[in-house]
Amino acid sequence: MSPSPTVKRRSAPHPVDRVRHERGTAGRNELELSGRAVRASAIPLGDPGAIVVLYDVTRMRALEAVRREFLSNAAHELRTPVTSIAGYAETLLAGGVDAETSHEFLSTIHRNAGRIAALVADLLVLDTLEGRAEVIGTRAPIGLAQVVADAARTARGVTPGAHIEVDVADELSVLGTREGLDHIVQNLIDNAIKYGNDTPVTVRAQRIAQRVRLAVCDRGPGIPDGHEERIFERFYRLDAGRSRDSGGSGLGLAIVKSQIEAVGGRVWVEHARPGARFVVELDAA
Ligand code: ADP
Repeated sequence: MSPSPTVKRRSAPHPVDRVRHERGTAGRNELELSGRAVRASAIPLGDPGAIVVLYDVTRMRALEAVRREFLSNAAHELRTPVTSIAGYAETLLAGGVDAETSHEFLSTIHRNAGRIAALVADLLVLDTLEGRAEVIGTRAPIGLAQVVADAARTARGVTPGAHIEVDVADELSVLGTREGLDHIVQNLIDNAIKYGNDTPVTVRAQRIAQRVRLAVCDRGPGIPDGHEERIFERFYRLDAGRSRDSGGSGLGLAIVKSQIEAVGGRVWVEHARPGARFVVELDAA
């Protein structure tokens, strides 16, 4: 069917033409061209000529959006404990609170101060890691069995009932830093206990050609389909209530990922059905 002859369509000028035809000082515009953010500058050279310079700023704009979101999340995370501390402190300062209630208020203040301290510590680690691999230190061969044994002992100390089964051969070594690996393995084991609903946790490692894979597996609810990548994003949580109650900031896995990538490794999560299996792959030493 042909279009009705009474309907006249005036197509919008091409964005580049718009910039070209700007008069006066050199035009400077941000346009959308084929789905990309483009900054355009035009210098008219007398009709119909113009020099039009295009800069693709898509990535810059995307990074700005990520930064804005990060700041807003960080502020939001800090606001709750700060508000709580301010409120309880004000009540205490006003006086007239009995000793037992005072103690309760003070422990809430203390707990919230701890949350702020943990969040700030995580933010500082992220800031240090951000795009600066050299701060990680030189990679050296690290025995994986020792790292896992230490992390499992620490986890059992914190959660005495935790059932952690370790199967890591003594000779397995990876290239990394001891501090970084301690943090990575501890974090994954702690998460497996915390979010795995006290189900048994297994830690296994195997060598595959020039790489070593370490898998931390629990039998809990696992990661729902579609969230496998998002859980490594900063501040992304599936269970915000439980995360906050246990002092989590939603930054744990983001830090783990940065630390692993800084030493040339990668990390991902698989469905263990039931449960989650976090796999870390690093260069074998
Ligand atoms: P948090 O600091 O909140 O513990 P993480 O970055 O360590 O944050 O984890 C992000 C989210 O991923 C958690 O809030 C939790 O919902 C989910 N998660 C992490 N590990 C597991 C696991 N083993 N089983 C189920 N969910 C998990």
